[in-house]
Amino acid sequence: MVVGGGAAGAATALGLLQAGWRVALVERKPRPRFPRGTPVTRVATLNAASMRLLEDLGVARAVLDRRGHAFYRMEVWDAHSTAAIRFDADDLGVPALGWTVELLALETSLWEALEANGADLRAETRWRAIDWRPDRVDLHLQGGDVLRTRLLVAADGGESPLRTRAGIAVRRTPYHASGVVATVGTRFAHEDTAWQRFDHDAIVAFLPLADGRCSIVWSQPDYAAEAVMALDDDAFARALEDAFGGRLGTIESVSPRHLFPLVGRQAQDYARGRLVLVGDAAHTIHPLAGQGLNLGFADVQALLEALPNEAGGDPAGTDALREYTRSRRLENETMLRAMEGLRWLFGSRQPVVTALRAAGVRQTDRRDLLKRFFALRALGL
Ligand SMILES: Cc1cc2nc3c(=O)[nH]c(=O)nc-3n(C[C@H](O)[C@H](O)[C@H](O)COP(=O)(O)OP(=O)(O)OC[C@H]3O[C@@H](n4cnc5c(N)ncnc54)[C@H](O)[C@@H]3O)c2cc1C
Repeated sequence: MVVGGGAAGAATALGLLQAGWRVALVERKPRPRFPRGTPVTRVATLNAASMRLLEDLGVARAVLDRRGHAFYRMEVWDAHSTAAIRFDADDLGVPALGWTVELLALETSLWEALEANGADLRAETRWRAIDWRPDRVDLHLQGGDVLRTRLLVAADGGESPLRTRAGIAVRRTPYHASGVVATVGTRFAHEDTAWQRFDHDAIVAFLPLADGRCSIVWSQPDYAAEAVMALDDDAFARALEDAFGGRLGTIESVSPRHLFPLVGRQAQDYARGRLVLVGDAAHTIHPLAGQGLNLGFADVQALLEALPNEAGGDPAGTDALREYTRSRRLENETMLRAMEGLRWLFGSRQPVVTALRAAGVRQTDRRDLLKRFFALRALGL
């Protein structure tokens, strides 16, 4: 059974179902739907490994048909030095550097496939109590139903109520920062490029969308994020142009904005008894490298690989969950630390650090092998 029907939970449920398990999915929100003309809200950049998982699950086409968009170049630069780095899919010999997809498109496509494959889908459902038994877990739902399972997957997001109930501790890294998310039209074309500018502790990313607009993620200290949220659209557009160094010309349209507080989290353990954590329930990371959901999908892939096939016995056998935890926790920790290092490096105002980062980024940009190493890692290859 999976609790949490976001992208990570729905993908896990679909993978389990396709491997022959009977699966129930419990989600407290209404079932996701993607009606024609639905406004763009949250967007994530997926890497090649995530796209491969979606292909294996048979939903990649459905996701891409819902306004998914491939990008072929990435450009990252520092506002306070000449440091800049460019990646190009052709140079790396890959078909695309990544895809911008809407979370609602992902969730809708996964839920449709779950329904078609006969999953027991429980939207708008909350659980109220759990019985942990040696051979199973009983999840008592509000309304009286009891679901019995041999493996309980917690995919219930960063604040994971199941993780808390199981008593799994979590290390939190408050970034004291929030991400402002909006969809904007720009004077110049986005050129199928993902753009990112570092300006000390303000980082702004422009992610290319299928309709020619960009989805922006502007992370900055809480007080600054709240201040730009309070601006009217015109003043917001001018402030954003400034933060982006005017790279795509004037900002010509701005959608409603959303604010996301940013917190790094790492669960001390990814499994306990018959409970296993995936996605944001296990870890959350600063969005500066667009890796949060990619790491979540890598969890899903690793869990599906670690579990025995249906005939093969207990899904919560200690070996399977130990193998899953071993393979994912260290990998996620490495990415978390790397993002914290990058944030420190680009956030520092000390002249010596500015000079060092300029030199480091220039060297990386010039050295094909090093650049290739970083790019392929980000692509999950
Ligand atoms: C500003 C921003 C930009 C980002 N950009 C990127 C990016 O470009 N690329 C990328 O890879 N990642 C990105 N991320 C990260 C990515 O959005 C998340 O990692 C991902 O959406 C998490 O998916 P999830 O399924 O693990 O959790 P969630 O999407 O949080 O899903 C959890 C689900 O559990 C449900 N739930 C919670 N409690 C219960 C309960 N008690 N009972 C039943 N259901 C429950 C919730 O309703 C929800 O549907 C970004 C994050 C932010 C904040």
